[in-house]
Amino acid sequence: MKVNIREYSKEELIQQFESRKIPGFRAKQVYQWLWSHRVLDFGKMSNLPNTLQSQLSDQFSIEEITVDIIQRSQDGTIKVGFQTFDQEAIEGVIIPKDDRYTACISSQIGCSLACTFCATGFLARKRNLFAWEIYDQVYLLDELSKLDFEQSLTNIVYMGMGEPLLNYDEVVKSLRILNDEKEGLGIGAKRITVSTSGVARNIIRLADEGLKINLALSLHASSNDKRLEIMDINKSNPLELVIPALKHFYDVTKNKISYEYILLSGVNDSEEDARELATLCQDFPVYVNIIEYNPVDDVPYHKSKKEHRDKFLEVLRSLKVQAKVRRSRGKDIDAGCGQLANKVK
Ligand code: SAH
Ligand code: SF4
Repeated sequence: MKVNIREYSKEELIQQFESRKIPGFRAKQVYQWLWSHRVLDFGKMSNLPNTLQSQLSDQFSIEEITVDIIQRSQDGTIKVGFQTFDQEAIEGVIIPKDDRYTACISSQIGCSLACTFCATGFLARKRNLFAWEIYDQVYLLDELSKLDFEQSLTNIVYMGMGEPLLNYDEVVKSLRILNDEKEGLGIGAKRITVSTSGVARNIIRLADEGLKINLALSLHASSNDKRLEIMDINKSNPLELVIPALKHFYDVTKNKISYEYILLSGVNDSEEDARELATLCQDFPVYVNIIEYNPVDDVPYHKSKKEHRDKFLEVLRSLKVQAKVRRSRGKDIDAGCGQLANKVK
């Protein structure tokens, strides 16, 4: 069986080439074609001799993800259903807002965590995505953004399907390639955000990787009791583990952390909840994103009433918390996390 060449790091590729008596500089050229330009056909790597192109085609494969479905929302949001080499469905979204074009990408096929409000949680976790599959989503969404909006992507968020910090190694590899100016896509770390439901141990590891990316915690409830009701992960990763891990991330990177907080009517949207949330914003600088709940079929939640949302925000602001409401985008195309893949299955 041929090995997919995009599974090798640059150093591994050099070794692979040298063991085949191909000089190391050729590995560097191939690496650049693969990662800076996403050229996935050895025949199109124009600075390689024909004999080497044929040898590489005989000895390596190049897998890719492909665009399966494109849906365009009336509000400009574009949702893309991708197909993987093993015929699984994943999804990515482009969210245009003012002069920002944000790509939301997936890190796993399904998710093992089953948060009660999340469509992806209803899909069993099938497998982790490879770094190159994460990269492909960004590259392909960028091409689409250029076609539709005549603009490149400006921001990348790991907020599609899956828990990025339970696919740690491949996610970190993908971050390095997206960020690499010389041999990757050159996307600034400040423009990349990883969202996690709170895997404390890996938040600490991520802080120490030397990447200056942003981190968002899907908090959604400010006490262990409440959080346990909606997020299973809080059993193994209670707030007393997650909050110090975030503090470490802040201390090392000096990047402001954001808290994602979906307002669910009658569940986590009282004034008391807002005060509790404010106390979790005191250990390090935090930005709170209040998210409008995106309805998921067969889930018993409702978005908060406007007066509750306004009051919640007022309490936060009176306690000097920086917070903003994020409207749900692309409602007419099921653009919420996991919703498209759920429907096409
Ligand atoms: N697993 C990671 C990243 C993917 S989820 C995490 O949980 O952070 C990305 C974001 O979508 C999270 O903040 C998640 O809580 C939110 N989300 C999930 N279901 C949603 C829904 N029905 N309405 C609004 N946001 C939702
Ligand atoms: Fe998984 Fe995140 Fe959805 Fe929870 S919110 S089920 S962690 S994708």
